[in-house]
Amino acid sequence: MSAAMLEIGDLHVSYGQVDAVRGVSLSLDKGQIVSVIGPNGAGKTTLLAAAMGLLPSKGVLRFEGEDLHGLDVESRVERGLVLVPEKRELFGELSVLDNLQLGAFSRRLRSDVLKKRLGAVYERFPRLAERKAQRADTLSGGERQMLAVGRALMSGPRLLMLDEPSLGLAPLIVRDILAIVRGLRDDGVSILLVEQNARAALESSDEGYVLETGEIALHGASQSLASDPRVQATYLGGG
Ligand code: ATP
Repeated sequence: MSAAMLEIGDLHVSYGQVDAVRGVSLSLDKGQIVSVIGPNGAGKTTLLAAAMGLLPSKGVLRFEGEDLHGLDVESRVERGLVLVPEKRELFGELSVLDNLQLGAFSRRLRSDVLKKRLGAVYERFPRLAERKAQRADTLSGGERQMLAVGRALMSGPRLLMLDEPSLGLAPLIVRDILAIVRGLRDDGVSILLVEQNARAALESSDEGYVLETGEIALHGASQSLASDPRVQATYLGGG
């Protein structure tokens, strides 16, 4: 069994003729926050979609030692691998509470477990508790992101994959969201964080990968990546 919680090796993902992910290798240990940064179209969303089982892929894809190929999305969620998609994908016409309950996903979940998880989400996001009867499409951008994370927590993730949680949010709200992400890690949830906001991602992660046109261009401790002149010039606006 591999020591890494998530092990991705020489992974390839294509859309027809377009090779979007070309031989990516990445590993994440339990308790880590690992970030993947890179420009638009680098293949970040595609990588997460493949890990989640939303797209077919070739290569090594293992979670806690188990080969993920052949497991459908629901089976991956049951094992604790959960994605918060870039588009949040909330049900706008439904209430905050309904969205959270739908996040529990597994039909086999006992109602007392569901209740406990809901309580924990409300404790983490008091704003959602205050607004539990409010329609999701009337929430602010930051609240919507909180709801998307809260919904993912309802399925009891061990590894949470976040696709651009800072997208479209004001800098102060980005700070709040990333503080929440670090808090989750402190509570035992490992995190794979995909971000175009390189500065915020590197500040919040232990290790980072730079993805460019479907390949890993750089990898290292987030702190050393943040001081790498190549990263500074391209992703941190000159530092
Ligand atoms: P962004 O930050 O803009 O979401 P990204 O790094 O997540 O970018 P992807 O969305 O994974 O990048 O896209 C990687 C490549 O795959 C791009 O060239 C994109 O045009 C292509 N691509 C993505 N989705 C599809 C699709 N459904 N069909 C064909 N090509 C696609």
